[in-house]
Amino acid sequence: MNKPATPNSFRTGPDEQGMFGIFGGRFVAETLMPLILDLERHWNEVKNDADFRAELTDLSTHYAGRPSKLYFAEGLTKHLREVSSARGLAGGAKVYFKREDLNHTGSHKINNCLGQILLAKRMGKKRIIAETGAGQHGVASATVAARFGFPCVVYMGATDVARQSPNVFRMKLLGAEVRPVTAGHGTLKDAMNEALRDWVTNVEDTYYLIGTAAGPHPYPELVRDFQSVIGIEARAQILEQEGRLPDTIIAAVGGGSNAIGLFHPFLDDKEVRIIGIEAGGRGLDGIEHCASMNAGAPGVLHGNRTYLLQNSDGQIMDGHSISAGLDYPGVGPEHSWLRDSGRVEYVPILDDEALEAFKLTTRVEGIIPALESAHAIAHAVKIVPAMDKDQIVIVNLSGRGDKDVHTVASMLGMEI
Ligand SMILES: *Cc1c(COP(=O)(O)O)cnc(C)c1O
Repeated sequence: MNKPATPNSFRTGPDEQGMFGIFGGRFVAETLMPLILDLERHWNEVKNDADFRAELTDLSTHYAGRPSKLYFAEGLTKHLREVSSARGLAGGAKVYFKREDLNHTGSHKINNCLGQILLAKRMGKKRIIAETGAGQHGVASATVAARFGFPCVVYMGATDVARQSPNVFRMKLLGAEVRPVTAGHGTLKDAMNEALRDWVTNVEDTYYLIGTAAGPHPYPELVRDFQSVIGIEARAQILEQEGRLPDTIIAAVGGGSNAIGLFHPFLDDKEVRIIGIEAGGRGLDGIEHCASMNAGAPGVLHGNRTYLLQNSDGQIMDGHSISAGLDYPGVGPEHSWLRDSGRVEYVPILDDEALEAFKLTTRVEGIIPALESAHAIAHAVKIVPAMDKDQIVIVNLSGRGDKDVHTVASMLGMEI
């Protein structure tokens, strides 16, 4: 594939068809098209509406706890400086964490859910549907639905329902109905198909609250905009705390919402190196990983064109990751475009490397990170010792790791 010409700005997309270069778009059934266009019309109305923004800011502040802190990770920085010295390098950049783990419900997902529930309210919708894999987005959706008094149906693969029972219980406590999906392998991809089907059959009253920066246009754009609060804050905070921009920013990529949220406000800062981390699972030579941009190929899934894990027949494959939140066989289309244009590097991190970073961060920072976020930290652990002491790295701590303690215990051969 030809490398696209470097644009003047990396922040202007998507175009009116919802395309980021050759990625994105809205490849949906004709019956879904009027719904998508209606959503787009309302989104265009509210995105620069002062009242809408004010209501979102108020909720983000008093309900979700924003702004999240930009924290100098002194313990990790000190540790990585010792690693650097031991290698005879005498380096080690300063590491900062953007603390999305401190948000209500424990991750960045609430940013998107608050934005979309307000949009649903504006549109006069009466019923919320959502898809979920590990259950984190299902819980965040059930949370905002409870807050606004909307009935909520969450589609969840039957396999995931069985292995994520605490989150299923949380959703039920919050008043949501969890519908297990047995089609396919009963995972996130199948849940998303089922949610799209529900949406077409309940045209009048239903709002589909998508959990990541994927799906048909305008979802990738609107989810990105709701998550961009992460990067807007981080950029202002580092200027305030260090008087300059960071040298490198790093985030984990599942569908890509926390990553694009951090990255987008920095895309035109050419001096900032931007790195997205994919789930390398047990290695890219086998099929047990979820590195769609490093080991996949472009195709169409869930209404958009993007990099996907697929076999030689073009069948979508189920990914694997120690971290359920990175376990989506595709990626938001804007990441595919940023990959091909060369603005953002995408690098895999293995399960074992993420687990080591999880343990290290817990020990030297007193912060138990989500396994997803531990992938991003693991990459910092790799590159920071070779950087200079006056350099700065920001890692997006997308969520807290309380949800992961059972997974970690079983990986360590322990019982809780
Ligand atoms: C869901 C989740 C992710 C992955 O989703 P993105 O859309 O790629 O951000 C990452 N971290 C945490 C804590 C999550 O809950």
